[in-house]
Amino acid sequence: MSIYEQFGVRTIINAKGPSTRVSGGFLEAEVSAAMAEAGRHCVDMAELQAAASSVIAGITGAEAGIVTSGAAAGLLLGTAACVAGLDPAQMSRLPDTRGMKDEVIMVRSQRNFYDHAVRAAGVQIIEVGLPDRVSGAGVRDAEAWEISAAITERTAAVVYVATGRSRPVLAEVIRVAHDRGVPVLVDAAAQLPPASNLQHFIALGADLVAFSGGKAIGGPQGSGILCGRRDLIMSAILQNLDLDIEWAQWSPPLGLIDKQRLAGLPPHGIGRTCKVGKETIVGLLVALQRFVASSDARRRLVWLARIERLAAALSTLGNATVVLRDGLLPKLAITLMEGTAMQACVQLQDGDPSVQVDPSEVENGRLLVNPSCLADDEVELLARRIREVIG
Ligand SMILES: *Cc1c(COP(=O)(O)O)cnc(C)c1O
Repeated sequence: MSIYEQFGVRTIINAKGPSTRVSGGFLEAEVSAAMAEAGRHCVDMAELQAAASSVIAGITGAEAGIVTSGAAAGLLLGTAACVAGLDPAQMSRLPDTRGMKDEVIMVRSQRNFYDHAVRAAGVQIIEVGLPDRVSGAGVRDAEAWEISAAITERTAAVVYVATGRSRPVLAEVIRVAHDRGVPVLVDAAAQLPPASNLQHFIALGADLVAFSGGKAIGGPQGSGILCGRRDLIMSAILQNLDLDIEWAQWSPPLGLIDKQRLAGLPPHGIGRTCKVGKETIVGLLVALQRFVASSDARRRLVWLARIERLAAALSTLGNATVVLRDGLLPKLAITLMEGTAMQACVQLQDGDPSVQVDPSEVENGRLLVNPSCLADDEVELLARRIREVIG
């Protein structure tokens, strides 16, 4: 009996990709073995995060980095770091930001559900720009000068959500923010592949970048990376670690925390709620090393082969058209008869086995299959379920 059967939980066929609602993706055997081994010993958590920082810095080009419990946790910790800096009194007061830098600037068209993590640090989000191109009324969106104009002495950071469509381009945002001494925190949670994005935002000058560990990297579902400037990462980890220790006994690893720079030891910080365990840190690091040791091209070939097999198995589908969309992450687009896509989506989900597809184009009558969280031996079964529901 599988572990999920023991708890009476169905496993699903995940043709949606590594989203949180459907539990991310799979762990490779090497990653789960590393996590199991990590659980058999005890370590000093600050020392483990310092080792993580070296690995993450080596891979991203950032000065420092930590493993977080997700990209959203990275947004909370990163915002808290931009607000409180290295002041233990300010760390201790969060999310009460009265009298402190208590504003974060975001482009209105970049607002999204995850910005709750930013607000949780106690800041108010100041929106700029009118997204005309999103409303359909025009072609423009926020411009760099509007961000500049919104910066005041209360601005803790500019939070930028990186996607291929984000405007203004990040380089311009960094330029105007740095002109005024304001750090830029980039949400790059789902910006992999390409693997080069692990370095890209840092190379552009971003002060902090948050990635999800449970998405393309293939780390534990509840993992992430926050990397960037040494002082900000030091602040972030101080607000995340358990600090139940006397100042005299406390000897944190210098590579991550420079005790000399602190006026005192803050109490547990606002990020203590997003604690990350040793198994998660080790799992993320091993997954990250494996991710960069492979390549976008190799991953694409594996996914493409899977999608081609699925496409072949669906070639006789009468009342739907099946199109392979190539790219770094190839997908299969299945266009159904008008008005039936949501119903098919629900039938797939409620069937046995339950199948989750990517519903982001349901309005256009399309179901998308993302191959990155499919097992090779699930392709035939997936094809059969799709034929049963659609064909
Ligand atoms: C997935 C995602 C997050 C959250 O990442 P977690 O690792 O699940 O916390 C944040 N921002 C964006 C844009 C995302 O796509």
